[in-house]
Amino acid sequence: MYSREEIIEILKNTGDNEQLFALADKVRHEKTGDEVHLRGLIEFSNICKRQCKYCGLRAPNKKVSRYRMMPEEIILCAQNAAEAGYKTIVLQSGEDDYYSRDILCRIISGIKKFDTAVTLSIGERSFEDYKAFKDCGADRYLLRIETTDKDLYKKMHPGMDINTRIRCLEHLRELDYEVGTGCLVGLPDQTPESLADDILFFKEINADMVGIGPLIPHPETPLKECPPGSLTTALKVMAITRIILENINIPATTAMETLDPEGRILALKSGANVIMPNVTPTIYKNKYEIYPNKAGYSENALKSRKYAEEILKKAGRSISKGYGFRKK
Ligand code: SAM
Repeated sequence: MYSREEIIEILKNTGDNEQLFALADKVRHEKTGDEVHLRGLIEFSNICKRQCKYCGLRAPNKKVSRYRMMPEEIILCAQNAAEAGYKTIVLQSGEDDYYSRDILCRIISGIKKFDTAVTLSIGERSFEDYKAFKDCGADRYLLRIETTDKDLYKKMHPGMDINTRIRCLEHLRELDYEVGTGCLVGLPDQTPESLADDILFFKEINADMVGIGPLIPHPETPLKECPPGSLTTALKVMAITRIILENINIPATTAMETLDPEGRILALKSGANVIMPNVTPTIYKNKYEIYPNKAGYSENALKSRKYAEEILKKAGRSISKGYGFRKK
């Protein structure tokens, strides 16, 4: 395992990264195999009470046209995805309090009837909420730490507290979820040292899934003038994470593909083993604008799957038929 100093050195190195990416690919092959897990992503509400400085869904953005899918609509969308072959449904939204514990439990129980794993990505909730969702059958939870740098976290997330976020991750672990976290690459004043700490944090909490996203500036946010995060740095953070955490699940993120049409393939060759095609109904899809020009818009669950198949063929990989839990 790399020391903090070694990670920093790799991140600072401006030369060739072929060796690093090849090693991450080898570890991915040995520890998780060549199959890629597809997760059908439903972005069910773009309403958010938070003010994250980088995110287009932030509450003060009055230019975004807001939507909220109703429980029956979400369940139907999940059914379509399950019928198209997806074995995991990911439910993602802004932090929208309309979705009470009861409503979410109804949605989760409805989806579990289709024999899929369910991943939630709906932000910070109480221990009791997390417990109720788990009791209804939720399997996994994604909650990126975004950055472990306490000062940067505070600047980027007005009114939020990094300790609450860490506590949420601890609660999820205690409740036996598969826990996903991750970070943004390219936040203002972010240093290689701070990215190294992010990677060590993933190890410390024994994350089951880690998503790394390059920052893509959104014009209606305070970070609109910020340059986009570097795809190469994001791939390096991802590759080091693979080498250190070995058998976890790592998505080739949409943000990577948005920055570069080859981004997802590069990610799949540098440690990633998961793709999350967007199966949100077309009428809502372009309203979930966390950043502009999100890659991978296709018309429905089947088309998204076909699109993923094409990408995988190019990368010489196959689609997994299982639920895609972390390999023991
Ligand atoms: N509200 C939930 C939460 O807090 O985990 C989930 C939704 S949130 C929109 C999903 C992820 O989008 C965040 O974890 C963040 O890393 C990413 N994101 C938001 N704005 C972004 C941007 N401008 N560029 C890249 N990723 C962004």
